[in-house]
Amino acid sequence: MSKTPSLLSGCNGKPLAYQASRKVNCFGCGTSIAMNEQAVQIPMKKGMRVGKKIHCLKCLSDILEQTKKDMAKIERLIPLA
Ligand SMILES: [Zn+2]
Repeated sequence: MSKTPSLLSGCNGKPLAYQASRKVNCFGCGTSIAMNEQAVQIPMKKGMRVGKKIHCLKCLSDILEQTKKDMAKIERLIPLA
């Protein structure tokens, strides 16, 4: 059971468009991404290293959803005038 990362936690940079040049597996859900299929590369910190992890577009949308939730949490830290 892994928590969906967001771009504010778990990721270490912005996603970049990535077109698979060979068959790869999505880092998030493990689904296979065929050659020439559109995906994204997201820099993620693992221990001391930052690796660019390939994600499918479905995982990207989950990560964006999680990012919005994290943003809402942060926005609540600012008292409304
Ligand atoms: Zn995926």
